[in-house]
Amino acid sequence: MKIARQIAALLLALALMVPAAGAAGVEKPAPAEETPEILAPAEQEEADEDAWRLLLVNPWNALPEEFSVELVTLASCGLKVDKRIRADLNEMFFACRDAGLRPVICSAYRTQATQTRLYNNKISRLRAAGYSRETAVEEAGRWVAVPGTSEHQTGLALDIVSAGYQGLTRRQADTAEQKWLMEHCWEYGFILRYPEDKCDVTGIGYEPWHYRYVGREAAQAMRDSGQCLEEYLEALEESAEQAGASRT
Ligand SMILES: [Zn+2]
Repeated sequence: MKIARQIAALLLALALMVPAAGAAGVEKPAPAEETPEILAPAEQEEADEDAWRLLLVNPWNALPEEFSVELVTLASCGLKVDKRIRADLNEMFFACRDAGLRPVICSAYRTQATQTRLYNNKISRLRAAGYSRETAVEEAGRWVAVPGTSEHQTGLALDIVSAGYQGLTRRQADTAEQKWLMEHCWEYGFILRYPEDKCDVTGIGYEPWHYRYVGREAAQAMRDSGQCLEEYLEALEESAEQAGASRT
């Protein structure tokens, strides 16, 4: 996608250079003929518009190798997120604070190195608690994603806790901040990514603090249907297949 954008920018730059040459006395090109070439990558970009929002990263789907993201640092916490989600995130935070609550972002974008450190730490703690190597690895994967499969590496995921209780435990679900976020996050394009009743589908234990940006349209659809991201994407795929089948 990035390369497509770079090519589009290059084409645009070349197109802009030509009239300059014309002004210097060289033959003037017909600009109308060039327009479709410049528009094509932009149209492609529009088609890709939804793809980034619905990027699936889970225990069975690692981050694509060519993945790259433009990050922005959040002033409130110094953490980074995909710059495209900042406006919706800010809006959600302002609304939550307006409701008299104190949400705190405790984790956002993570590099591969950070994820690896967290994962290894979890395994070490489990080993220290008496787990065998094999069981520790298995159990760690339920709580800390295997490096390359963490949504935090996308820049689209955030761990949000209550300022009054910052523990990453089930108790987090009882805080007024989580109650508000769970009820309203979809209005701003976010979902609670790992609900209690979907652990088998997501492959991740209940995390009443991990929110994922999917865009407002998808967030509302998932809220209405009760689907988690995996289920939503599968349903989308099925309906696309059905639409394809009905055409033939
Ligand atoms: Zn998280």
